Amino acid sequence: AAQTTRYLYDLADGDASMKALLGGKGANVAEMLRLGVPVPDGFTITTQASIDSMNTGGEWPASLWSETQEALERLEERTGRTLGSAERPLLVSVRSGAVVSMPGMMDTILNLGIGDSTVEALGAESDNPRFAWDSYRRFIQMYGEVVEGVPAHAFEDELTALKRTRGVEQDTDLSVEDLKELVEKFKSVAREHMGAEFPTEPREQLQRAIDAVFRSWMNPRAGIYRKAHGISDSLGTAVNVMQMVFGNRGDTSATGVCFTRNPSTGAQELYGEFLVNAQGEDVVAGIRTPRPLAEMESVLPEAYGQLLDTMKRLEGHYGDMQDIEFTVEEGTLYLLQTRNGKRTAPAAFKVARDLVEEGVITKEQALRRIEAGQLDQLLHPAIDPDHGKTPITKGLNASPGAAVGEIVFDSDTAEARGKAGDAVILVRWETTPDDIAGTIAAQGVLTAHGGMTSHAAVVARGMGKPCVAGASAAKIDAAAKKVTIGDTVLHEGDTITLDGSTGEVYAGALELVPPQVNEDFSAVVGWADEVRRMDVRANADNGEDAARAREFGAQGIGLCRTEHMFMAEDRLPAVREMILADDEESRAAALEKILPMQQADFEAIFEAMSGLPVTIRLLDPPLHEFLPDLVEQALTVQRLELQGGTDAELREARLLLSQVKKLTEMNPMLGTRGVRLALLYPEIPTMQVRAIARAAFAVRERGGEPIVEIMVPLVAYAEELRRLRELIEDTLAEEFEAAGQQFDYTVGTMIELPRAAVVADQIAEHADFFSFGTNDLTQTGIGISRDDAEGSFLAPYVDDDIVPDNPFASIDIDGVGGLVRLGTEGGRSTKSDLKVGVCGEHGGDPASITFFESIGLDYVSCSPFRVPIARFAAARAVL
Ligand code: ADP
Ligand code: MG
Ligand code: MG
Repeated sequence: AAQTTRYLYDLADGDASMKALLGGKGANVAEMLRLGVPVPDGFTITTQASIDSMNTGGEWPASLWSETQEALERLEERTGRTLGSAERPLLVSVRSGAVVSMPGMMDTILNLGIGDSTVEALGAESDNPRFAWDSYRRFIQMYGEVVEGVPAHAFEDELTALKRTRGVEQDTDLSVEDLKELVEKFKSVAREHMGAEFPTEPREQLQRAIDAVFRSWMNPRAGIYRKAHGISDSLGTAVNVMQMVFGNRGDTSATGVCFTRNPSTGAQELYGEFLVNAQGEDVVAGIRTPRPLAEMESVLPEAYGQLLDTMKRLEGHYGDMQDIEFTVEEGTLYLLQTRNGKRTAPAAFKVARDLVEEGVITKEQALRRIEAGQLDQLLHPAIDPDHGKTPITKGLNASPGAAVGEIVFDSDTAEARGKAGDAVILVRWETTPDDIAGTIAAQGVLTAHGGMTSHAAVVARGMGKPCVAGASAAKIDAAAKKVTIGDTVLHEGDTITLDGSTGEVYAGALELVPPQVNEDFSAVVGWADEVRRMDVRANADNGEDAARAREFGAQGIGLCRTEHMFMAEDRLPAVREMILADDEESRAAALEKILPMQQADFEAIFEAMSGLPVTIRLLDPPLHEFLPDLVEQALTVQRLELQGGTDAELREARLLLSQVKKLTEMNPMLGTRGVRLALLYPEIPTMQVRAIARAAFAVRERGGEPIVEIMVPLVAYAEELRRLRELIEDTLAEEFEAAGQQFDYTVGTMIELPRAAVVADQIAEHADFFSFGTNDLTQTGIGISRDDAEGSFLAPYVDDDIVPDNPFASIDIDGVGGLVRLGTEGGRSTKSDLKVGVCGEHGGDPASITFFESIGLDYVSCSPFRVPIARFAAARAVL
């Protein structure tokens, strides 16, 4: 008989290794139980149950409800309480729990089991009716919102109105009678929106609550979050049913969130917040601004001490910084959740380094912990420390970094304007998980409410988005689209600057400065060097960039684009002279002028990279790129004709126009460029090779050690490379003879056309190395032009999941990656030791680097600033 799937585990049957099945929350609570850390009892419905129900259009697997009822009975037995009973009622929470944590993106329902028949018993038990009625109103609110889809504001409006009539500020200032009244009001709000009575049968409520948590996996905001973090839609969520413990049971009860280290900086210090007489949602949802954890010591000293011990223990057990949710019920501490804390990039590096130094983890483990995207964040600009401006207000430094942008007051506007490329700052009273799309699109977030452990702050830190939270001096009028801070009134569209590291907010745009790479970063990237197999080179066209690249750890230049040297303003006249030349002789004369300039460039690069290889690519782009635009030149001629320019002026302008016409191509990207240009105008590569040789000799004379690699672009046919190689060798032989000395060099080619990848075995006959030009290979391989695609269909393609990613940012592994693999195999079938690398933007993209490692490339080359990222990613790729 077929084994039936088990959809449910009691807490005592789980452990931390079962995350895929029990979700992160369920697995970690089970683990805490095993460790003897106090947690409420309960059970977990597996992710498989939600997947199976998702795959059948929402229908539950046949055995799930009976398994749930049995588990509930066991829980009732263990706790000595009964769901819905007027005597010793059991209350539970129904909590979502994804495999990869998605703070606040899915739903949780607290206080299930409370109703007209249980509320009195609950109050009587602890002689605290206020707490019972507070729990009741919370339940109607949460259940109504999450399960029945009643809009949140409908309840909030009633609560605010009641507080106003009573003249009180805090929820906790409402009396028992107030809360009873509120329960009635909430019921009628629910009734109105549901068009039916509020359900009162707790088992039915439980079933519907579990189902709602299943469905919350497909919330729009959860989908957006998964997309932003590359989490698969097919994982599903577990559902945790746990006995309630009550942080709202009076003044010896509390709830809070803490991190075992500072998740912004990584410092080993107390970091957390709590609220007396409240439930967890108040803290994590950012509804109330909580108090710093340190204050708990005087309020609840015993629980505080236990909490600190437990934090230490959990961090030691998991070997990583923990993010912990806790509740104190009448002095007794319970842990409700622990997970590896989301952290900013600086914190990630510091924590990793400290944990290695403390002997808790190995260097390899530390490398595995850090996400490549976090290196990116470290390299973001910061506020110039010498700005000398006075902030208009200060909030909590919830997520560090600098953000400059125009104020917007709602997530939709932030999303629309952010996607259009505008820099905006989302300014909100509080942020809810529904603001996720706006948060992603904004440069930063400013809230008037909520603390540093709210989900909004956690999500912002995880994304490296600067966030200032709880800036209570900011009076936001979202309807009128303005915010008043002291005497300053700011409107939508006004620019502000956030300093997420200090919590300061400034009017206007502050100056930003390049980031400082710190010691933690250097240490971690140093470990990466010990581990990685692939070399990392840089793309650089001048001595300055080459020197910077070397500082960042580049092991050579993988791509030196010589055309950039042609574009410089002081050289363009000579370059045009060369292009406009009617015969070889005058062309040669023009080239004579360019040669020393090129030579000087090469000297600077060879010097900066002394002892390391420098790959110089011969001229690649079509010649017309060095000439004026066709239409513009036609207009110039016309203007001269009308305004009566001199004969000489007119002649020159007309000549230029006719040359531009001649050189203008329908599709220049596939036109006369690269090796084609070199074969058509051999004087150009000849000049370049001479400049290379003379630069190398000059640098060597000054004591440098140039290592020369010459690269031919856009080769499609082996014969093209054979001929150009001959030209290069002959020219170098001449130069060697003239100089009376020589140097070793290699000649290789770019592989950036599908044909080249297919016939790579033939091309390799004439090549000492291959370098995949993945930018052009993506264009020619997929058959899309980057400039046309990125402004048009590509974004909707990515949004609609037609393609997983922008193929210009992250390599299309199946297609373009397939060509790289094919070309590599082909090349090495001819020369087994053929050196193969990648230049182009993919060389600095971690996902692409992982792929390049998997097919055995020798090196990647990327822009100087991305070199540390590539060094790190290359190490991650082998771990
Ligand atoms: P999220 O994933 O949004 O953090 P949780 O399931 O962790 O949702 O629940 C949110 C908060 O509700 C928790 O931080 C905790 O404080 C509170 N909570 C959840 N379950 C219980 C429980 N059984 N007893 C008391 N509080 C709970
Ligand atoms: Mg939680
Ligand atoms: Mg190219």
